Amino acid sequence: MAVKITDTCINCGACIDECPVEAIVDDSENPTGEEIYYVIEEKCIECVGHYDEPACAAACPTEGCIVWSDCAEGATCAENRGEPGEPVIE
Ligand code: SF4
Ligand code: SF4
Repeated sequence: MAVKITDTCINCGACIDECPVEAIVDDSENPTGEEIYYVIEEKCIECVGHYDEPACAAACPTEGCIVWSDCAEGATCAENRGEPGEPVIE
């Protein structure tokens, strides 16, 4: 159902404005309390209908920082998505 930002995030902010559905919040709004950016799972549509690949991962300068998360039943998920935990962009 979503992609996930991992703890290698350097808080550069490159991803946040790329998201077409405003699913990303910065560290100050991260509900987990971690000092990294965060993807709101319920909002993320894996960029389906907007881009060929997740725009956040394409913009992120940190290798492997954004990974696939679970694809919940009934959620919008990319057809060519990887397994949970795999980097969205290798
Ligand atoms: S995959 Fe697309 S919709 Fe999901 S957080 Fe990244 S930019 Fe937003
Ligand atoms: S682009 Fe990558 S490193 Fe920068 S804030 Fe977003 S997830 Fe973190």
